[in-house]
Amino acid sequence: MSGAWESVIGLEIHVQLKTRQKLFSADGTSFGAEPNTLVSPVTLGLPGALPVLNREAVELAVRTAVALDCTVHPVSVFARKNYFYPDLPKGYQISQFDRPLATDGTLGVDTDQGVATVQIRRIHMEEDAGKSVHDRFPHATAVDLNRAGVPLVEIVTEPDLRSAAVARSWLGELKLLLEYIEVSDCNMEEGSLRVDANVSIRPLGSEELGTKTEVKNLNSFSGVERAIQLEVARQVALVEAGERVRQETLLYDANRGELRPMRSKEESHDYRYFPDPDLPPLLVEPDHVDAVRRALPELPQARARRFQEGYGIPGYDAGVITADRIVADWFEALAGSVVQTGSGDAKTASNWLMGPVMALLKERGVSIAALGIPPDRMAELIGMVSDGTVSPAVAKKVLQLMALSHERPRAIVEAEGLAQVREEGVVESWVAGVMEAHPDEVARYRQGETRLRGFFMGEVMKASGGKADPKEVNRILAERLEAAGEGAETPGEGAQEEG
Ligand code: ADP
Ligand code: MG
Repeated sequence: MSGAWESVIGLEIHVQLKTRQKLFSADGTSFGAEPNTLVSPVTLGLPGALPVLNREAVELAVRTAVALDCTVHPVSVFARKNYFYPDLPKGYQISQFDRPLATDGTLGVDTDQGVATVQIRRIHMEEDAGKSVHDRFPHATAVDLNRAGVPLVEIVTEPDLRSAAVARSWLGELKLLLEYIEVSDCNMEEGSLRVDANVSIRPLGSEELGTKTEVKNLNSFSGVERAIQLEVARQVALVEAGERVRQETLLYDANRGELRPMRSKEESHDYRYFPDPDLPPLLVEPDHVDAVRRALPELPQARARRFQEGYGIPGYDAGVITADRIVADWFEALAGSVVQTGSGDAKTASNWLMGPVMALLKERGVSIAALGIPPDRMAELIGMVSDGTVSPAVAKKVLQLMALSHERPRAIVEAEGLAQVREEGVVESWVAGVMEAHPDEVARYRQGETRLRGFFMGEVMKASGGKADPKEVNRILAERLEAAGEGAETPGEGAQEEG
């Protein structure tokens, strides 16, 4: 994008709420069930079937609203949004229109230029539609109504975002928040978090909004960023060629990485919204909202701040660790034990977590919960490093074994004979072995090439399988290498044989 243009982005995010039952019926909500098995007369829109509001869904929607600092309205109204589509048997979707559950919230995200604050315009409740399945039968489209009626909240932001990259990271922040408050599993692949991006451009410095387009079908974070970039570039090219941006809806094709026009934009009056006569207004007591607010867990941004200030770990560490609630819990337990047992401080805990533990998670492709190493065992291992039982290098090996056997580190170290060795005789034999195997280096060292010391150190550690106590190795190496002449003949002969 050329420097003369500013991009303006507003997001509409559909979030499936983690309820057992649908918004207006007792049908189950499990993803991946046999098609059309979660379909009562209410879901099918059969004549005479009446909706009954699921309180659990309201609970989660209210929690979402207060976590985003919204005003929750004591009265909100369900409305019918009328349109025809095969996956919508009733002929209308029950949503909220002019009286949404909540308005005026906010959520910020850290950027290179400081915090970007995004206002939340509104949060409303609605039911999901069914799914048209195009790839099951060769010459027909099938309809699966399992998803029809699954509860959603739609979160609508003001057009406060100014770049594709910030839109992406803000969404990451939103997803993290929703996961922390346990309202949704936010699985983008399964469609439980779906994003539409509204995009316009304007001359840099202008306050007016340009004509926007809406990009749909964004089902990954990278897709969101990429699609917005493409759309901004398309609009800039249009305007710079003297044409105008047309208000329309575009579809992002992730496989081809391109945008396709979908339809010209419909207006809200096209939907003939009216209050659903089958549903009374939704009443939410202000006292109840307060109770929900008080019951909120610590939110991720507050937690990251506390980690920095309370534990004294760097902001970067705090951000990475709080990016997953379970990881953050694990860290807090670990830091607690490490400090309590006197084997280090919170930064020691953070270093082990950010380094070897996260590397192991990545290598094994598992979550910290599935790794099977509870924080107290990790603390035991860290204690064994701090009291010199094992070296840090061996501790990493023990960590690997802990993930495999789920044994305590002490048991593993004993069984595998991994404890650090400092008995003089044993360390001496490793040193002697290395000196014998490298007579040339010994000779060069003795002629003054003392930087070879590191080489010998490494070889002895290798020979000991990482178990030698480095301090002992250092001391004995110094002794034996400085002792010019002594034992020099034997390695000399060895070198001739080898050569
Ligand atoms: P519509 O009537 O098309 O639904 P709204 O004004 O209700 O449009 O806004 C829908 C979404 O589009 C909101 O997220 C809002 O922030 C965003 N939006 C509105 N105008 C613009 C604009 N000019 N550029 C980018 N996004 C916009
Ligand atoms: Mg809209």
